[in-house]
Parts: sequence; C-alpha cells; structure tokens
Amino acid sequence: MNYHQYYPVDVVNGPGTRCTLFVSGCIHQCRGCYNKSTWRTDSGILFTQQMEDKIIDDLQDTRIRRQGLSLSGGDPLHPANLSVIHHLVQRVKTVCPDKDIWLWTGYLLAELTPEQRQVVNLINVLIDGKFVQELYDPQLLWRGSSNQVIHKLR
Ligand code: SF4
Repeated sequence: MNYHQYYPVDVVNGPGTRCTLFVSGCIHQCRGCYNKSTWRTDSGILFTQQMEDKIIDDLQDTRIRRQGLSLSGGDPLHPANLSVIHHLVQRVKTVCPDKDIWLWTGYLLAELTPEQRQVVNLINVLIDGKFVQELYDPQLLWRGSSNQVIHKLR
C-alpha cells in the first residue's frame, strides 16, 4: 500500500485530536473529487512497517492525547489496500483499545465484500458513499455530500 499524507496531530478529520492517514488508490472517480492525485495505487509513498510503528507510537503519545485514528484517501477499502489496512486496524485495536478508528470510503456499507467487512468489523465509525457534487454541502460535518452516511458501528 502507498499513502499520500500522514498527519500525526490533526483536528479536522474526525472528532477530537487524531492521527490521520490518507492512503493511495481509489476506483470511484467521483466528479469534483478533492483528492484526484490519490487515485492511482502507485502514487504517493510506500507505507512501511516503520510508518505503522510511528502511528502506534503517536496514538500512545501521552504528551498530546489522541482520541483516535482517521483513515481516508484515496480509499482505505480499495482491494489493494485491504491487507495492510486490516493489519493496521487490528494492531490499533489490540495495543490502543481506548482509541477510536474512523474510516472514509467510496463504497457503500451494504455492498462491501467479505474482505472489506473484516476491516469494518474492527473500526468504530464508517463514512460511506461516493462524493456527489450536486449534493455537496459545506455545512455537513465529516462528509462532503449529503448522500454520504456516518455509520456509528460501535
Ligand atoms: S471516493 Fe473520495 S477519493 Fe475516491 S474519487 Fe470519490 S471523492 Fe475522490
């Protein structure tokens, strides 16, 4: 898996202070996409074991308390990302059980594959659906267009 950006301290993408990772790879091609440069799976930088370790360290940092981890992109549920994302969320749930995980995807919750569901079964909040320019509303919190749904899973 490749990624484009990692913010160790982020107060924009989800509630509270968070660590946020924007991964590469998205098949949805939404008109008006805010992040076209992430579409190709080979764009960005390789996500390494060191990067995973850094995210865990940041989540455990007691100087700046993080509420959780936000995963966006690109699409964290792109088939090419699933094994790395699954490993990451499993590790976060094991070693940082008090942190919440939010994940943004262009897929619909009802249409996820069994492999995508394995990831979603470990996260707290899923924001699903493509970005639809006609339904864009800047007043919306945590989503770009009104068709997208915030699923509070656990
Ligand atoms: S799902 Fe997100 S990253 Fe993918 S094309 Fe749509 S807006 Fe862009």
